[in-house]
Amino acid sequence: MAQKRDYYEVLGVEKTASEDEIKKAYRKIAIKYHPDRNPGDKQAEEKFKEAAEAYNVLHDPQKRQQYDQFGFSGPMGGGGFDGFGGASMNMDDIFSMFGDIFGGRAGFGGFGGFGSRGGRPQQHRGSDLRLKVKLTLEEINQGVTKKFKVRKDTTCTHCHGTGAESGSNRETCPTCHGSGVITHTTQSIFGMMQSQGICPTCQGEGQIIKNKCHECGGTGVTKGEELVEINIPAGVAEGMVVNVPGKGNAGFRGGIAGDIQVFIEEEEHDTFVRDGNDLIYNLLLDFPTAALGGEIDIPTIEGKTLKVKIENGTQPGKTMRLRGKGLPIVQGYGSGRGDLVVNISVYIPKTLSREEKNAIEAFKDSDNFKGDNQTKASIFQRFKNYFQ
Ligand SMILES: [Zn+2]
Ligand SMILES: [Zn+2]
Repeated sequence: MAQKRDYYEVLGVEKTASEDEIKKAYRKIAIKYHPDRNPGDKQAEEKFKEAAEAYNVLHDPQKRQQYDQFGFSGPMGGGGFDGFGGASMNMDDIFSMFGDIFGGRAGFGGFGGFGSRGGRPQQHRGSDLRLKVKLTLEEINQGVTKKFKVRKDTTCTHCHGTGAESGSNRETCPTCHGSGVITHTTQSIFGMMQSQGICPTCQGEGQIIKNKCHECGGTGVTKGEELVEINIPAGVAEGMVVNVPGKGNAGFRGGIAGDIQVFIEEEEHDTFVRDGNDLIYNLLLDFPTAALGGEIDIPTIEGKTLKVKIENGTQPGKTMRLRGKGLPIVQGYGSGRGDLVVNISVYIPKTLSREEKNAIEAFKDSDNFKGDNQTKASIFQRFKNYFQ
C-alpha cells in the first residue's frame, strides 16, 4: 500500500483548523472529485475516498485528538486508521456516514450532481463500544496488548448479515422505489415547500426483505462474543482514548461496524509518581551518605537499578534529573523518553543508641553543623517558589 498522506494535507487545512474549516475544505474536495462528476475516473474516486477518510477522522474531535497523538500508527496495532480507509471503505459507506455533509438524501446546496443520483440507500453503521482499561506504569512503559471478551452485535452467521432467509432475496422497496427517501410537499407561507425524509417502509435502505432470516429476525446481526486484541502503545496516559476502528457493534444488514474506544486509566505506582512523561522518585537518603557522599541505587521503571553518585554535603530538597529514564513519549508527540526526577530527602534517625548519641553530641556546638547563609537562602527561595 502506498504511503498514506497526512489527513490535514489531504484536506489542505492547517493543523489548527476549526471544525468548520475542515467541513468546508472537505465539501470542496468532495464536490470536485464526486463520482457523479467524474464518471469512470479512478483517480478522482481515490481522491474522493481519501478525503472522506481524512474528514471522517478530523471532524470527530475524539478521533482527531487520537490522530494528532498517534498519527497513523500506534493504537490500532500496525493497521493504523487503515482498517477504515482504502479498499475497505466503499462509496456507500462514505455516503451513509456523511449525511451531514451531503445533506442527507437531498443533496446539498442545490448542486445537481447529488440530486441526480436519485438518493442513495442508507446503510446502518454499528454503534461504538466503550471499554475502560487500567494500566500499570510498567505496562505504560512497555506498551501492552490487552485481550477483551466483548459482548456485542455480530454479523449473523445464518444470513451473513443480509437479514434475508437463505434463498430469498431483497426486493426494491415499493414505497420509495429504491431511493430510500420520500418527498413531502407542504403548504407554507412561502408557498409550496418540498422536503425529503427517510422512507418509513425500508428505513432508508431502498430495499425490503420479504423473507426475514429466522436467526436474526431480519436485522442481520445477532448478540455474540468476540475476543478482541487491542494494542496499546507505550506512553499513553490517564484520560487518553485509543480508538479501534471496526471492532464495535456490527451494522444492521451489512452496514459497517462501529469502533471500540478504549479509555485509559492509570494505576497508582508504589515507587514512582508520574508527571507527564517524567517519573518522580522520592529518595530518602541516609544522613551519613548525605554528609559524606557515596553511591546509591535508584530503581527504574524497567525494573533495574541505576547507580547514582551522591555528592558530599547533599541537602534535603535537592533534585537530580536522570535524562531519558522516564516514560516513553507516545507516538505522534515525538520520540524519546521523559526523565527520572529524583527528589532527595534526608533521614534523621528517630532514636539513637548511646554510642550514636555520643558521636553526634560531639558536633552539637560546631558552627559547621548550623547551616550556612547560602543554604538558608536557597531553602527560603524554594519555599517561596512553592507558593508561587
Ligand atoms: Zn440472519
Ligand atoms: Zn423505501
